[in-house]
Amino acid sequence: MSDRSSGKSVVAGAFAPYGTSIFTDMTMLAIEHGAINLSQGFPDFDGPLEIREAAARAIVDGPNQYAPTIGVPSLRRAVADKMSRFHNLSLDPDLEVTALAGATEGLAATLLGLVEPGDEVILLEPSYDLYPAMIARAGGVPVYVPLERPGFGLPQKELAEAFGQRTKAIVVNNPQNPCGKVFSREELELISSLCEQHDAYAIGDEVYEHLVYDGREHVTLLDVEGLRKRAVVISSTAKTFSMTGWKVGYTAACPELTEAVRMAHQFLTYCTPGVFQEAMATAIGMDDSYYRGLLESYTGKRSWLCGALRDMGFDVLEPEGTYYCSIDIGDLDFEDDLAFCRYLAEKVGVAAIPSSFFWKDRRGGRDLVRFCFCKKDETLEEGIRRLGKWRGR
Ligand code: PMP
Ligand code: GLN
Repeated sequence: MSDRSSGKSVVAGAFAPYGTSIFTDMTMLAIEHGAINLSQGFPDFDGPLEIREAAARAIVDGPNQYAPTIGVPSLRRAVADKMSRFHNLSLDPDLEVTALAGATEGLAATLLGLVEPGDEVILLEPSYDLYPAMIARAGGVPVYVPLERPGFGLPQKELAEAFGQRTKAIVVNNPQNPCGKVFSREELELISSLCEQHDAYAIGDEVYEHLVYDGREHVTLLDVEGLRKRAVVISSTAKTFSMTGWKVGYTAACPELTEAVRMAHQFLTYCTPGVFQEAMATAIGMDDSYYRGLLESYTGKRSWLCGALRDMGFDVLEPEGTYYCSIDIGDLDFEDDLAFCRYLAEKVGVAAIPSSFFWKDRRGGRDLVRFCFCKKDETLEEGIRRLGKWRGR
């Protein structure tokens, strides 16, 4: 939108460098061209019926009024129980767990609640688009440390050099979108020691926490030595329960850090719908077989899509976690990943995400394209069929 008198954009400076999100753009392109949408990461199926029924009942029975600002007790208790079940951690649901509108608001509230003008926040590249935008809106300065390719290893020297007097926090997305990296305990301990040395916080975006393959362990930041009182962990029920539209997210952190998150949250949304929180409390409490089933299903879809892409002659980055895999298009005859994705949606009928949008100013990742496999088998089958036909396989 423009200021009519000057023709200048009226968007606040921190957001000015950003256009429409690549996730929106690619989904719109998929709709326009009738493409199989393997771009924006959302399932084309809904989560457990009993959870949807629980929400429907809660809507009918009420109450449908404001929920407590920190979240309904059942959800906060369910999150605390889950942290105990999966990580042997003891959290106080009243002082350490907060419900927010998805991980998106969880991240925004954490950054707005903690970051002061001039503070530096370290981002590991590739990084999710929200982080730099929200850091800038809080008056902070993102400091980028690119992960080392291939393999996306943590560059120890560069990371140590990035920490300084002005460092307020580091954001760690684990498992990581888009490359599917799962951080090892050793890597997280290195991050912890740097945070301790520089009196900085660690912000963990752990929305894909239950999608970690091949027997690897998901180590939550709260379980890393030295981080119990320095980390805010943000997660969401969107991926784990295949209901991205409900926007039920939460944070877990010590009482002091939780106070900062809650302060921002009360001025952002105040509270989120109690009925969906109640239903997700039931979902989180489901027994281990639900979580195992989810992982088994995605393990199968991951092997299927990665194998099919490999059979088509692509160089595939099989993820350690998340529901995304990537191909290397460096050797193909396209200007870059964006040109490739446009061609794919328009001419091949499959939409994907150009990975360079996860790098500052698209300075990296132009040789990578991300596909999501959180789709029904028939959707994946048709996507694979279209890609295979194009590749002559
Ligand atoms: N962080 C990452 C890394 C994501 O991929 C996403 C998108 N699912 C989010 C945060 C946002 O999560 P939510 O939908 O719960 O707001
Ligand atoms: N996290 C999703 C992805 O990476 C996108 C979510 C969104 O569009 N905000 O595809």
